[in-house]
Amino acid sequence: MILKFLAVTVVLFLVYTLFFKKNREKSMDSSNKSNQKDNIEDIMVECPTCGTYVSKKEAILSNGNYYCSKECLENK
Ligand SMILES: [Zn+2]
Repeated sequence: MILKFLAVTVVLFLVYTLFFKKNREKSMDSSNKSNQKDNIEDIMVECPTCGTYVSKKEAILSNGNYYCSKECLENK
């Protein structure tokens, strides 16, 4: 009887551990993916005119420099 109880406990523990591990890896994978996505989309560059940091996708590219706004581009 005690052996049976122990066996059930061990099986439940193994199932719980595997399930938990799987979930953790899954969530880690998705967080890694979102981090990579953030890195691609949100690379911060400094505006050479006013020194403001702006994300590359929102910046204005001119002669290899990223400007935060048209004003900074014109007043460089
Ligand atoms: Zn600027």
